[in-house]
Amino acid sequence: MVDEPLKKHTYTQLGGNADYYVTPETYEQVRQIVQLANKESVPFTLLGNGSNLIVKDGGIRGIVLNLQKLDAIKTDENLVVAGSGARIIDVSREALKEHLSGLEFACGIPGSVGGALYMNAGAYGGEVKDVLTSAVVVTRDGELLTLAADELDLAYRKSNIPDNGYIVLEAEFSLKNGKYDEIKALMDDLTHRRESKQPLEYPSCGSVFKRPPGYFAGKLIQDSDLQGKQIGGAQVSLKHAGFIVNIDDATAEEYISLIRFVQKTVKEKFGVKLEREVRIIGEDLE
Ligand SMILES: Cc1cc2nc3c(=O)[nH]c(=O)nc-3n(C[C@H](O)[C@H](O)[C@H](O)COP(=O)(O)OP(=O)(O)OC[C@H]3O[C@@H](n4cnc5c(N)ncnc54)[C@H](O)[C@@H]3O)c2cc1C
Repeated sequence: MVDEPLKKHTYTQLGGNADYYVTPETYEQVRQIVQLANKESVPFTLLGNGSNLIVKDGGIRGIVLNLQKLDAIKTDENLVVAGSGARIIDVSREALKEHLSGLEFACGIPGSVGGALYMNAGAYGGEVKDVLTSAVVVTRDGELLTLAADELDLAYRKSNIPDNGYIVLEAEFSLKNGKYDEIKALMDDLTHRRESKQPLEYPSCGSVFKRPPGYFAGKLIQDSDLQGKQIGGAQVSLKHAGFIVNIDDATAEEYISLIRFVQKTVKEKFGVKLEREVRIIGEDLE
């Protein structure tokens, strides 16, 4: 698709258009697109489920690759193999069906498998690093590689995927045999906790900031009296101070300005630097 609005594909519902929006159906097509883009010197950007991204108002030049069609999920004994476009929520549900434990933490994380590896997504004491065994990736040069999990340097909300320019195609998770009722009860409990604490009724990118060592970002923001602070259509959530919600057709510029305002205020009040968890990509409006 040409000139595709990325607002339609991001949880914050912000941002301009992609010059080209491509949704390949096979690993080979991904490889060919990467090779062609390199040959023609066209930049390309990976978009997963758009749940940890702010696309700027000027949009993204070149190709935006979305691997949502690579969404197969297969189980083999205690292993689950999922395409990078599968939703990690669906992978955790598949594991439940097979009575496999280890992915319960992911049952409410709205990312794709590719995005979850890139971010080493985690919640309630679990993270991708705990269960990932290997990943199939395409390199910047279009080469297909299978990597062991420890080759991805997974750490708190990061990996070496951006540094290496890997495109994740597939992930293998190793889980433990468990009891259906216990797995289900834990997933229900985590879902309830999430729904009662998070402002899921508004577009957002989830927690905007990483947890600063020794603190909680939400508590620092709350204690800085920032809840309800608004710039244009973006607001520090009244329900959960760690979230910034798009309550009234915000622009990316407004949302990003509010992020910077929160960082500056917390730094002034508590001397703590809030590091962004959400990724900002694309170009400003000219
Ligand atoms: C309401 C809400 C709740 C959330 N709760 C949590 C939570 O509890 N824990 C948590 O960790 N996160 C949470 N998040 C954030 C988000 O869901 C995770 O960071 C998720 O892993 C992002 O995946 P995605 O597919 O949406 O990635 P995107 O936002 O689309 O992309 C994130 C980054 O990954 C890259 N990427 C995506 N796919 C690939 C691929 N196939 N290959 C290479 N790079 C790729 C993109 O280029 C981008 O840089 C939440 C977000 C929301 C909106």
